[in-house]
Amino acid sequence: MPASPPSYPSPWMNPNVVGWEEAYEKAKSFVSQMTLLEKVNLTTGTGWESDQCVGNTGSVPRLGFNGFCTQDSPVGVRLTDYNTVFPGGVTAAATWDRSLMYARGLAMGQEHRGKGSTVQLGPVCGPLGRAPEAGRNWEGFSPDPVLTGVGVSETIKGIQDAGVIACVKHFIGYEQEHFRSAGQDGVVASYSSNVDDQTMHELYLWPFADAVRAGVGSVMCSYNQLNNSYACQNSKVLNGLLKNELGFQGFVMSDWTAQLTGVASAVAGLDMTMPGDTAFDSGLSFWGANLTLSVINGTVPSWRIDDMAMRIMAAYFKVGRTLEDQPPVTFDSWSFATEGPLHFAANEGYQQINYHVDVRGNHAKVARQVAAEGSVLLKNNGILPLKKVKQIAVIGSDAGPNLDGPNGCSDRGCDNGTLGMAWGSGTANFAYLVTPDAALQARAIQEGSAYQAIFDDYVTDDSNTQQGNGLTAIPDLVSQAETVSIVFVNADSGEGYITVGGNIGDRNNLTLWHGGDDLIRNVSALCDKTVVVIHSVGSVIVDDWFNNPNISAVVWAGIPGEQSGNAITDVLYGDVNPSGKSPFSWVSDRTQVPDVMYEPNNGDLAPQIDFTEGVFIDYRALDKADIIPTLEFGFGLSYTTFEYSNIQVKKNSAPPYKSTTGRTIPAPTLGTFSTALSDYLFPGTWKNVLYFIYPYFNSTDPANIAGTSALESACKFLPPNATDGKPQPFLPAGGGPGGNPLLYDELYTVTAAIKNTGSVAGAEVPQLYVSLGGPNDPKVQLRGFDKLFLNPGETGEFSVQLTRRDISNWDVVTQNWYISDYPKKVYIGASSRKLHLSAWLN
Ligand code: BGC
Ligand code: BGC
Repeated sequence: MPASPPSYPSPWMNPNVVGWEEAYEKAKSFVSQMTLLEKVNLTTGTGWESDQCVGNTGSVPRLGFNGFCTQDSPVGVRLTDYNTVFPGGVTAAATWDRSLMYARGLAMGQEHRGKGSTVQLGPVCGPLGRAPEAGRNWEGFSPDPVLTGVGVSETIKGIQDAGVIACVKHFIGYEQEHFRSAGQDGVVASYSSNVDDQTMHELYLWPFADAVRAGVGSVMCSYNQLNNSYACQNSKVLNGLLKNELGFQGFVMSDWTAQLTGVASAVAGLDMTMPGDTAFDSGLSFWGANLTLSVINGTVPSWRIDDMAMRIMAAYFKVGRTLEDQPPVTFDSWSFATEGPLHFAANEGYQQINYHVDVRGNHAKVARQVAAEGSVLLKNNGILPLKKVKQIAVIGSDAGPNLDGPNGCSDRGCDNGTLGMAWGSGTANFAYLVTPDAALQARAIQEGSAYQAIFDDYVTDDSNTQQGNGLTAIPDLVSQAETVSIVFVNADSGEGYITVGGNIGDRNNLTLWHGGDDLIRNVSALCDKTVVVIHSVGSVIVDDWFNNPNISAVVWAGIPGEQSGNAITDVLYGDVNPSGKSPFSWVSDRTQVPDVMYEPNNGDLAPQIDFTEGVFIDYRALDKADIIPTLEFGFGLSYTTFEYSNIQVKKNSAPPYKSTTGRTIPAPTLGTFSTALSDYLFPGTWKNVLYFIYPYFNSTDPANIAGTSALESACKFLPPNATDGKPQPFLPAGGGPGGNPLLYDELYTVTAAIKNTGSVAGAEVPQLYVSLGGPNDPKVQLRGFDKLFLNPGETGEFSVQLTRRDISNWDVVTQNWYISDYPKKVYIGASSRKLHLSAWLN
């Protein structure tokens, strides 16, 4: 079984990191005034449902600091009202449009700020999408690390420009839902993702490096184990990769109850535990009073608690927050009632808890644009855009409402009606959900068309209806003359704490739900103007019907959010010329790419998920096996056409690569603390709120301080160097945000001309792929893209700066990046397989 090597001590903040200097100074002056109890209070959540947000830290009343409200989700503000539900990450990725990704992030950040959260728990780049079945892929962007890296970076910049700390998650190797937690699905330990060092660097760590470079304030560690060490106490990934090599200056927050140890997680690099209790509402914590005691007795070095507080406060100041401007929490995650208990778990503190602040502004516009531009036209024989249709027949439950309402299932944990949002904590309540039916009907009426919709997926037998009388059955309707039939189908997935239709988060297969394939076959058998719209979390197998000539067009409309109907109407009628490109490959057989592990392979112990495919996921896997996918990564049609020409490669002058050298400062200690246990007793004058997690002691008997008695001295179990605060050498591949700054030198400028050769205006997404040339390298890998809007006849320039990182491999021996001697080639094209132009990199 693979093991994760130790990496200690936990790196402390570096005062000189570009973009963090001012935040560092502000944090230092604040943390220097804090007591030990106050520092601990910042690191430890107050317990599940103890306060109003999904996660809350303690406050520092003496210094006028309210503490942190950390709130889901990656698509908006979860568990509240009057908020926008933005499209899922996978749809944002499908736009391939940096400015839209940023606009979505900014709008979400503004809504979080307006509601009073300090941290938005998103964006997601883990799971990356190793297995298309994995339940939470849609929360993230794409199985391609470069597209995902751009997605998280732009989202982070947007969120943080709004004054809210982004939390990129889940770090790392969290590629499926089955067995993510002990006690789940019959295992006593979380699965271990066994990932080799090269794959880690070239694939899974890549977008996290981009997130750090974008200045992300926090990172959430995941439930799973990485090489048999739990991600929230894995010193190699937290200390070694994230804080040392990538130079991350913000704080690491645990996923909800993903912390499993106190001291071990502290020295391994965890800075904040969420929601703070060991298990929901246990009233106990690995930190809180236990962390206070560990610092007093020297088990956890005091510089480590100082660094935790520094990182937390630096992230706060980095996004422009101040002590003067602390927007209050105006919502309650556990109730819609205007008045109720402030401490829901304890049912105490009755007061106003919801202010019903409408934070939507004009964000519907952004949500609609992302959903429309993130829709991918997969097939079109000319029927689209729709024009002068005599009758529109809309078919399928996915076109209509959930009969229980848009929020009828808790955390969207069902697949009834149109799929506006998949399920889990990565969701938000709909203020409204525009169904495809509602928007298409309004448009059809406006155009003077007849319009009928049937939401029952199975009414295909018209034997009960009398000819000429019953027009409710699908065959009667779709076979009518001059009718365009639009069939809506879907496939759903989500987070593993909810099971929908037997799918424990992860999808059990890659087929359409609710008999979608039969529905498409039944309609297209009778209607030669059939349009299929797919709402799905990822790829589905479409081979059985895709090439049927009666199927005139196919659109993948992803996970569109609240503007679903408006966006698909924009696309079908040509108000928006489709420019989305598929952010994943469409396979014809699920064995062509890695799959989820559904049956544990290690008895009831941690399932061992060996990432034996290395970097070969999605199109890299298909290219390697010479499999032609049904539809390839990067594919998408438009209502116009584009021509590619004139590739040019210019070599820039850049200094040679050098390893980072030198040493850090010694670990700063900020302030002193008493070692008298009686100084830490729960203040006698306060009322102890049930289940609430405090930093105070219950007693001065060390064995009873926090209701736990596990006391061992540091030297008995802490790994070597865990408490060493002396200056430490920088890593050769480290030294700046995202790693060695020289990795981001721009070595080549590659350009090409793109011409709109059709008759309507439209946007094209030219893509640049590189072949690193080695026998173990992927055939091609995406390294750049842009979105160019071009009028008919217009030519635009596509330009990509290729960085050193873009053409490097990771060397597991030297622990550094290097450029191999193999001849390297760049390709520019309209997808991962339509590589129209190529040139050597010399
Ligand atoms: C999820 C996180 C989420 C947290 C709080 C966890 O189960 O994995 O993504 O932020 O809960 O809801
Ligand atoms: C909560 C989620 C959380 C999950 C953790 C659910 O009950 O609603 O916020 O992510 O539990 O397992």
